[in-house]
Amino acid sequence: MRKLFVGLVLVGLIIGLAWTWPFEEETTPTISPQIVEPTYKVSLTAVGDVMLARKVERLIQSQGPDYPFVKVRDKLKAADITFGNLESPLSERGTPLPGKGICFRARPEMSQKLQDSGFDVLSVANNHAVDYDTDAFLDTLELLRSSQIQPVGGGQNIDEARRPVIIEKNGLKVGFLAYTIFADIYYDARYRRTFRATETVSGVAPLEQELILEDLAELRPQVDVAIVSLHWGTEYSKSPQTAQRELGQALIDGGADLIIGHHPHIIQGFERYKDGLIAYSLGNFIFDQNQHVFTRQGLILDLNLTREGLQDLQVWPVFIKESQPYVMEGEEAQELLQTVQNLNRNLGTESQIVDNHLVL
Ligand SMILES: [Zn+2]
Repeated sequence: MRKLFVGLVLVGLIIGLAWTWPFEEETTPTISPQIVEPTYKVSLTAVGDVMLARKVERLIQSQGPDYPFVKVRDKLKAADITFGNLESPLSERGTPLPGKGICFRARPEMSQKLQDSGFDVLSVANNHAVDYDTDAFLDTLELLRSSQIQPVGGGQNIDEARRPVIIEKNGLKVGFLAYTIFADIYYDARYRRTFRATETVSGVAPLEQELILEDLAELRPQVDVAIVSLHWGTEYSKSPQTAQRELGQALIDGGADLIIGHHPHIIQGFERYKDGLIAYSLGNFIFDQNQHVFTRQGLILDLNLTREGLQDLQVWPVFIKESQPYVMEGEEAQELLQTVQNLNRNLGTESQIVDNHLVL
């Protein structure tokens, strides 16, 4: 047995030598494959309400489909992941919900424009996603997906609406969930279609603490960073309600790293809570509410996500001129940044103005 083994090794060596022999004289240097270590760092940019209907649509018709994005596109595209709240369904179908009053619906081709402008994840859990009823809502989800944008917070049924979007980039897994407090309203007693998704009806995920905590508990072990988008708060109010603060903190205790809030149409402050961050309202981002300066101000939140948590938190001031947002500079920026600094201080969070942005 031993002889056979030695014999086999010898035969192996001879074959090996014979095989390498003609190549020994080769002088071509060998190129060792480059091993790229993942950075485990993902940059995130988040904005508030993006509404592409009504006056914004008329401007798009006269100025072209890139009009709302031209001044912010580079910034949105610079991040690994860009998030926003899509406040208008995208479809050519559907009818306005009876009794709702304000119903938004934007052009289907804007889906691709959103992607071209850098958006990767858009929340549809808000009080306008089902404005043109089921067909238009489902068109929106399909259009976004076919434009490589992940919709979150809505679906064909409640399971889909609660399902997280998980993006893996640079070795890091980032999970998104989205909910709204406006899921249970119906606007006409004779047509009781609410926005809430059920086992059999399409719609959005409702903002309920227990339900979100359940989803977070399931998501947390699957990701490095957990982000929860909340469409909540009181319209035109400068500060969050006590109940919002309690919920935001409870969600961070329940495993969320970052809460991204929107809906009030004006900006509210940021709160650092433990290792997390609650952005109560980023305000409008693309919108046609020109009635007051407050509804024309918005904020861009920039940060890095890592396995150790949130890093390099920056807030950039935005002004919306004729439905076209741009990042403010100079005196204009300073004024809004001071306002945000004060709002943060009221929430127990200190922040510093550095050039044209705020560092949290
Ligand atoms: Zn809203």
